Amino acid sequence: MDSFRVVPIPQAVADRIRETRKDGHGNTGIEPTRADAPRGFPCRVCLEEAKVGEEVLLFSYSPFERPVPYRSVGPVFVHARSCAPYGPRASVPELMRSRLISLRAYDSRDRMVECDVVDGAALEAMVARFFANPEVACIHAHNARAGCFVCRIERTAGKA
Ligand SMILES: [Zn+2]
Repeated sequence: MDSFRVVPIPQAVADRIRETRKDGHGNTGIEPTRADAPRGFPCRVCLEEAKVGEEVLLFSYSPFERPVPYRSVGPVFVHARSCAPYGPRASVPELMRSRLISLRAYDSRDRMVECDVVDGAALEAMVARFFANPEVACIHAHNARAGCFVCRIERTAGKA
């Protein structure tokens, strides 16, 4: 059985940005940016790199749903057009494979209980190690170098 699933940001969040051009973190009038490199504009809904020439929207996003001390807000891209959400599924998106990824694991009260940095090619081993800790409820993945949130990783197979 798969022990985890990769969950992108909610499509509804992206749709609200596309419609209102406001992110709820003080940024308004969000204008599309055209991707000018094959890498560097990863969409957080489909979890694919925007292709050169595609339009993306850059806004601030928090993966936390409530105001907790560990709550962070940071920059993310989504395709300016509607796109098909990734999964949720148990495979690691290709765009994480070639990046240095920071994993932060939180308990059910959104308190950080594990954190480390891993080569994206070896992501599963660290995810398994974190989920071996029964306190861990979910993991947030960030691009370690740029610091941007990539996706949530949720436990699917109960306690290890
Ligand atoms: Zn997309």
